[in-house]
Amino acid sequence: MQDHFWSYLDVWRTRFPRRRPLRWRNDWLQNGYCRDCRYCCGQQDSNKPFYMALLPEQIRPDLTNDFYMHSPNTAYMDARGCKAATAQGCRLPRAQRPVACSIFPLVLTGGELYLYQTCPAVLFTPFPQLAGLGLEAAAWLRNFSRANVRRISLRLPAQTLAKGYIALHIKVAGR
Ligand code: SF4
Ligand code: SF4
Repeated sequence: MQDHFWSYLDVWRTRFPRRRPLRWRNDWLQNGYCRDCRYCCGQQDSNKPFYMALLPEQIRPDLTNDFYMHSPNTAYMDARGCKAATAQGCRLPRAQRPVACSIFPLVLTGGELYLYQTCPAVLFTPFPQLAGLGLEAAAWLRNFSRANVRRISLRLPAQTLAKGYIALHIKVAGR
């Protein structure tokens, strides 16, 4: 998506003439843009895998029904989108979704929180409000063990971060 920033900005301006609410709900980010966007679960512009590690308690035998699996612990999506995506949204209960999905467009990488800049919620929400949501998400993530924080932390190259993500300067290490 990063290569198409301006075209997406035009699309989002037309689709979202008014701002929509964002709220942190204990363990997920409620995002009023998602129902009319659906970008990040569906078919991606690139076939590069986007990895989404699962917590130990989310591992179950039938994971391949719901995800493309990179390893027994890590789901991914690519140009095909996510297997769990439907026209109405994600068909999985929240507890079965990767943590990366629960906090997106906040992204945990390298032990710090970033924002995925091309998400309409990021483009149209005032930055102080986004930063506040980042603090709430970080408070939740700090209840995770250090091992789980490492596990779910995405491995994004510096070049990718510089091109498409906004640093919130919020560190998350886990307990
Ligand atoms: S890009 Fe943002 S608004 Fe669109 S579906 Fe993803 S999180 Fe929701
Ligand atoms: S698990 Fe659900 S929320 Fe996460 S990428 Fe797949 S469809 Fe989207």
